Amino acid sequence: MVLQRTLKRQVELEGIGLHSGRLIRMKVRPAESNSGIVFVRTDLPGSPEVIAGHQFVVNTQLATTLGFQKVTVGTVEHLLAALQGAGLDNARVELDGPEVPIMDGSAVIFYEAFQRAGYQTQAQVRTILALRQKVELKMGEKWAVAEPSSCFEIHGSVEWDHPAIGYQEFCYQEGRTPFEELASARTFGFLRDVERLKSHGLARGGSLENAVVLNESEVLNPGGLRYPDEFVRHKVLDALGDFKLAGVAIQGFIRLHRAGHDLHRQLLAEIFKNPDCFEMIDDSGREEKRFSHLQAAFARGFVASF
Ligand SMILES: [Zn+2]
Repeated sequence: MVLQRTLKRQVELEGIGLHSGRLIRMKVRPAESNSGIVFVRTDLPGSPEVIAGHQFVVNTQLATTLGFQKVTVGTVEHLLAALQGAGLDNARVELDGPEVPIMDGSAVIFYEAFQRAGYQTQAQVRTILALRQKVELKMGEKWAVAEPSSCFEIHGSVEWDHPAIGYQEFCYQEGRTPFEELASARTFGFLRDVERLKSHGLARGGSLENAVVLNESEVLNPGGLRYPDEFVRHKVLDALGDFKLAGVAIQGFIRLHRAGHDLHRQLLAEIFKNPDCFEMIDDSGREEKRFSHLQAAFARGFVASF
């Protein structure tokens, strides 16, 4: 049996928003059992909240954006990955701008701040979504499969016809793979795309300080890569963050090929659309029960979905 946990103390960080280019201050605060991860826009009247749930994903271009009633929170995936890597179930994330700061383009700054703050075990047992049947999606050359397993695993693979990338694969197993193996892997992009995005007013905060940037043949960052396979490690990090949007822990083996935020969102939607393919259980795995508060949350989400 594993109990839920939250932060022992609040964490404060500030940094540039990748897409807005604005300086954004963020506080990650401890939160009560069963509250999950909730974002709060403190810069808007009434400090509206957006729940970190897959039902609230409103955009998956370049990053994962959540939204509820015209209030959006962008670039949530690396912070969510750090929360997942730190084993945090409940947290309140206050932002004074429209997105989570990009920091160095990875999750390591968030994760190290959580480690310094420490963790608080809570009274309630962690709920897990255990896959019972295989769910799969194919979109051209991209595909995603989720199937039953005794733990939570993500196997990612990428294939890019580029001398610095090629074929790469990485498998993360919760409880076995240290999160440090993924935490520092940075987001990446091609110089031609960065220039095009900037000309459209996007990725205003993007630079070699917060992304691996490639031209047609090589990595342009003076320090090179942090891991030889940093690209696929980052893809697995993104997936870890996006699957945190299940709102509960996952027990299953997820395999992803050339996937991205949109495929992650669609796979989660496909799982929740088919209640026969999973069961909600407590972490002991023995005493199976359905959780009314979760069903209520899902119902709220579906009502509010876009
Ligand atoms: Zn990313």
